[in-house]
Amino acid sequence: MKPIIIAIDGFSSSGKSTMAKALARTIGYRYIDSGAMYRAVTLHAMRNGMIAPDGHIDEDAITASLPEISIDFRPDATGQRTILDGEDVERQIRSKEVSSLVSQVAAIAAVRRDLVRRQQQFGKERGIVMDGRDIGTTVFPDAELKIFVNAAAETRARRRYEELIAKGEKADYEEVLENVRSRDHIDMTRTESPLRRADDAIDIDNSDMTPQQQNEWLLDKFRHATATTD
Ligand code: C5P
Repeated sequence: MKPIIIAIDGFSSSGKSTMAKALARTIGYRYIDSGAMYRAVTLHAMRNGMIAPDGHIDEDAITASLPEISIDFRPDATGQRTILDGEDVERQIRSKEVSSLVSQVAAIAAVRRDLVRRQQQFGKERGIVMDGRDIGTTVFPDAELKIFVNAAAETRARRRYEELIAKGEKADYEEVLENVRSRDHIDMTRTESPLRRADDAIDIDNSDMTPQQQNEWLLDKFRHATATTD
């Protein structure tokens, strides 16, 4: 069977990466979390003084740093670990600080152009599941299977809040909800490839679905897509 490209887009904390990872594991495809790449660039900028304590972002410095940043992924039991310049930064890129700044860094046109190109490289051999915001519209407009995941902002904030608490981090539900809403807003209104459902994407609202139901639903869409791809 010819390997295909599967693009899974959606709002933050919609559970798209959980679905994407599970599918990749079941069908033996490579999984790439494009959001992790935007998070890695944000972490690099924070560590190198390109984001001031008052939140001012030095776009020119970030743009100039792009050619020297290396981002890779290493598979592990639960999916993958993000490697920034040789260092495993999987935990650091999920911090609240990175989460609150990443959408602004991801709105910088030069950052998007650079990371979109890297994402396309990962997909060259096909046989890939990639999740993000613009995978079906900009990164792989020719993906054979495109999914758009949604869930109510409150449901997504509740999931994110529970994840943070489970990791032992301090979290405030209202603050998490505010972060989810503000990321939605920035992601949908930026000029360069905003979060938008591809016209040929299949929608799923998983607010009331169990992970197992989601996985079965997605596997069914995959089987259908490969059966109809020549
Ligand atoms: O998916 P995740 O929430 O980890 O992504 C972090 C942020 O990176 C998003 O809020 C969004 O601003 C940005 N992003 C993006 N395009 C993608 C993936 C993520 O702009 N393809």
